[in-house]
Amino acid sequence: MVSAATPSSSARNRGSTVVLGIESTAHTFGVGIVSSAPPYILADARRQYIPKEGGILPREVAQFFSRVAGDVLREALSQAGVDPRDISGVAVALGPGMGPALRVGATVARALSSRLGVPLIAVNHAIAHIEIARFLTGLRDPVVLYVSGGNTTVMSYSAGRYRVFGETLDISLGNMLDTFARETGLGPPYVVSGKHVVDICAEKGEFMRGFPYVVKGQDVSYSGLLTAALRAYKRNPESLPNICYTLREIGFSSSVEVTERCLAHVGKHEVILTGGVAANDELNRKLSIMVRPHNARFRRIPKKYAGDNGVMIALTGLLELLHGVGIVEPERAFIRQRWRPDRVDVPWYPKTLGDV
Ligand code: AMP
Ligand code: MG
Repeated sequence: MVSAATPSSSARNRGSTVVLGIESTAHTFGVGIVSSAPPYILADARRQYIPKEGGILPREVAQFFSRVAGDVLREALSQAGVDPRDISGVAVALGPGMGPALRVGATVARALSSRLGVPLIAVNHAIAHIEIARFLTGLRDPVVLYVSGGNTTVMSYSAGRYRVFGETLDISLGNMLDTFARETGLGPPYVVSGKHVVDICAEKGEFMRGFPYVVKGQDVSYSGLLTAALRAYKRNPESLPNICYTLREIGFSSSVEVTERCLAHVGKHEVILTGGVAANDELNRKLSIMVRPHNARFRRIPKKYAGDNGVMIALTGLLELLHGVGIVEPERAFIRQRWRPDRVDVPWYPKTLGDV
């Protein structure tokens, strides 16, 4: 057993620090292992909970996570080829997310950090989405559009933290797409061969008039759009491709609009898109066009790392460990279902792993 906060001897010998990260905020139980030295990402193991029908029930997700946790952990350790004693810290996403799901990750992380005698590192899930995108795109000081199953937020760094420059007033973009798909029988599954089922259906569609496009100041709202789309479908199921096209156009355009306004306001020259919906080709295309007149660069995150994963938690945990922040006593590692990213200091910014 190694002592707390001391990298194990073999890790020290290689001159690198290795952190294992656990993600369990929503539908994915993921374990990633990241090293401070190349090749950085040593392991990425994950299992996703996909309900056979209906929405995600937190209790069922938690049961699923409890069943797969051991296998995912073993798979990550075997991919990385590291001895558990080489691990210098255990990072865990403590929020924001669904309580029962978060509790499984927190329990596994507490047990593992105690067993290995290494620090437990609390990671904010939204910040982890930003950090993996900064690391993989090479853009260091961006405006961030974070779009996922639970969030739609525009953020950018200022004075020690990621500040929120706009967000959804109700449901997220991903939730809107998934709910529409579920209610109209297009899904689940919501994503087929890397494409959202609403996107696939929209391929044969055209824009329809009369749907609400809601931007209030810097915030967006999607619940009225979802209701209007479901009503239109009930009235005329034949028009489903047109409704899908319109839903996507309005949903994406409004989020791009608030991102553009943030970019103009903060005067930065980089934009990144992160979160599960960042896997979407059309949204990436819209953002890449939006940045041109601002003389800014846009780079897309690899699809594989757009959605929830353990690597982003390990990466952020490693940055925290190297900068001496985020370390919590296992008995004080409480989950935080509504943990906002603008409550977290990011002292490593604008650097990331590999920057000197
Ligand atoms: P996350 O919670 O970050 O893993 O994001 C999950 C959300 O991303 C869900 O709402 C998915 O439907 C959505 N998503 C995944 N792939 C795509 C895609 N290609 N296009 C649009 N949404 C997607
Ligand atoms: Mg997420």
